[in-house]
Amino acid sequence: MIMNYELVIGLETHVELSTESKIFCSCGGHSAANEPNDCVCPACSGMPGMLPVMNKRVVELAVTAGLMLNCEISRYTTFDKKNYYYPDLPCAYQITQLNHPICTNGCVTLKTSNGARDIRIKQIHMEEDAGKLVHSGNASFVDFNRTSVPLIEIVTQPDFRSAEEVVTYLNKLKNMFRSGGISECEEGAMRCDVNISVSPEGSEEFGVRTEIKNMSSFEAIEKAIRYESQRHIDALEYETEELVQETRRFDDASGKTFAMRNKETEADYRYFPDANLMPIIIDDEWLEQIKASKPEAVDEKAEQYREAGISDKEIDMLISNHKISKLLDDTVALGCNAKDAAAWILTDCMGILRKAKKTVNELEVTAENLAAIIKMVDGGKINRNAGKKVLIAVIEDGADPVEYCKANGLDKQVDSSAVDGIVDKVISENAQAVEDYKNGKVKALQALFGACMRELKGAGDPTVIKELLENKLK
Ligand code: ADP
Ligand code: MG
Ligand code: ZN
Repeated sequence: MIMNYELVIGLETHVELSTESKIFCSCGGHSAANEPNDCVCPACSGMPGMLPVMNKRVVELAVTAGLMLNCEISRYTTFDKKNYYYPDLPCAYQITQLNHPICTNGCVTLKTSNGARDIRIKQIHMEEDAGKLVHSGNASFVDFNRTSVPLIEIVTQPDFRSAEEVVTYLNKLKNMFRSGGISECEEGAMRCDVNISVSPEGSEEFGVRTEIKNMSSFEAIEKAIRYESQRHIDALEYETEELVQETRRFDDASGKTFAMRNKETEADYRYFPDANLMPIIIDDEWLEQIKASKPEAVDEKAEQYREAGISDKEIDMLISNHKISKLLDDTVALGCNAKDAAAWILTDCMGILRKAKKTVNELEVTAENLAAIIKMVDGGKINRNAGKKVLIAVIEDGADPVEYCKANGLDKQVDSSAVDGIVDKVISENAQAVEDYKNGKVKALQALFGACMRELKGAGDPTVIKELLENKLK
């Protein structure tokens, strides 16, 4: 008889932090690298006698992440050495946190198709990344650019019950961390170890757990969970194999998981405190500073945008990118309407980028310039079309909005007597059309209007001009 089984999942997620330098030396992060081994110094390549120096920013970002995930922040936090030998680890130990991690006991609420679900966060700890091995033909190379890049590892309790919940959680982390400037979470900068067990429904105990290591695409994570949970169910139901606690890897091509090694225990790593790094004390003053500069949580932010009348689809776009949500917030702070500014950013700016085949992160416009354009349009100094022209010039050529309008005659309308004069001129030069209009040919008005717009080089406000024309022709 086929039983119902319950799937239990716990996640360990590594996130690369957006800092300007590595965790224990002043080398740039590996995203600053162009060639293998060009962000490397004696410290992060493990030369004898080199000592680590703590990057303060890493602590601040880890605490910020902990606050976002409703964690308790440890006021006393220390580093430990985790010893293992591998060619991408130049010191043969990784500096990480075992005994006093920086954040503990958090919680994050997910919106799922089954309603709200709470996932408990066991801890967040800080650690350094390892390097990368590159295999080519018969040779293997090691690239230390990623060595000592700062990571936080977020460990959940075994609270997930489906792949859907896992993906919802990961998307939420990604959005939070992006909007909070903690990490860009690009492909490869967010990597997950997925722990899975399966037990008969209603059972008090969890089943044997396996861990699938180091996956970075959400799609792969979902597939791996599907495959691995079915493998567990088959093993329990049909006794196809004996489940053992082990570490596995997911092979994307076959969609299957394969055993890598038996589960290592803490003892295997011979952890011990890193005497080269002092304990870090987070006092009230520092914690308050970090709290004060903490960006609003994604939920609060989304709510604030919703209240401003921004649509859900637009909110999703804003929340998933720190750069554009910050641009919006700054533009609003300069006195622009949020809904209006969101449209300028998400429709106009994005449209210009798309045409230029550029990504959001390549958007070059300051909040000051954007606000200047929006204000000229709202104030009736230029029309929206002209505003769009200005925006293109600002984004593509770094133009100054006000100067550009002047230089290109887009602000002619500022002088309403000029518009008035042009309408008069068009009327006097197009006697036939005027005659036709007066005889009931509505289309003739369109021709006169077109002539005005041509004279104004598209700068006039169409509704104002139409009104002027109609009034003068009465
Ligand atoms: P270890 O010390 O062996 O790494 P942890 O207690 O740190 O074990 O747990 C590692 C991860 O495994 C956590 O995310 C936890 O939620 C998850 N986990 C623990 N037990 C189970 C289980 N039975 N099924 C699924 N996940 C589990
Ligand atoms: Mg663990
Ligand atoms: Zn270095």
